[in-house]
Amino acid sequence: MPWIDSHCHLDAPEFMDGTAQVVARARAAGVNAIVIPAVEVANFDAVRTLAHTHDLVYALGIHPLYTDRAQDGDLDLVEQALARHRSDPRLVAVGEIGIDHFVPGLDRERQERFYAHQLALAERFGLPVILHVRRSADALLKHLRLTPGVGGIAHAFNGSVQQAQAFIDLGFKLGFGGAMTFERALQLRRLAQTLPQEAIVLETDAPDIPPQWLYRTAADRAERGPGAPNEPAQLPRIAQTLADLRGEPLDVIAATTGANVLRALPKLAALQAAEAPVVSGAHAG
Ligand code: ZN
Repeated sequence: MPWIDSHCHLDAPEFMDGTAQVVARARAAGVNAIVIPAVEVANFDAVRTLAHTHDLVYALGIHPLYTDRAQDGDLDLVEQALARHRSDPRLVAVGEIGIDHFVPGLDRERQERFYAHQLALAERFGLPVILHVRRSADALLKHLRLTPGVGGIAHAFNGSVQQAQAFIDLGFKLGFGGAMTFERALQLRRLAQTLPQEAIVLETDAPDIPPQWLYRTAADRAERGPGAPNEPAQLPRIAQTLADLRGEPLDVIAATTGANVLRALPKLAALQAAEAPVVSGAHAG
């Protein structure tokens, strides 16, 4: 069953010693496509190289938690990188961009300016966006309404039903991952259960957002160490939670969430179509 992990930070230090093994375990688990978003100009080369080394895809952008340490000139560097790699079939989106109103102490005006600027770049380069949404859905939506041609994925979505619907109405898919595997995540699980099938994509956000079975509390970590990091090979098990919540078979979840990612990221769809084995002779004679 082919799965797509629509969000994984494969360049994170947690994976530094073993990206080839992480990708091999993902493939063994049936995860055949992984989207690697960038977070700052300094990791653009790393995500692009990883995507090309392992036949994966990537996005370029400045993450809202990195705007304070970014230079103003970095927005020009995003533009230059998008221009330089625009014909790279593995560059599928602008991201990870967005606004974070959860982490305290960030310059909100600066976050919003970096977001709006990169949204305009996505429109200009004809690319979808991968959005970081945390307590910021309404601020993000305000700008999206001004660029109605730009769609994409609202990753690790955890907003209200109304906000979910607003993203869907603007052509967005909503990313679900490890957070929904916690039984106490009632509102999120209700969303996963009730949203229209065509709105949902799956992600691990690895090495972040561990599913419930990998999660260790601070006390646990002090006693037993950090434990295994979340990784793309966990996606099918996370998907089982979605299948259970929705009462749908796992193969239906694989087919629909995969198709949704391809709809959100047309260049990934084109890449998969180009790489699909040619079936010959099926109806010979
Ligand atoms: Zn992310």
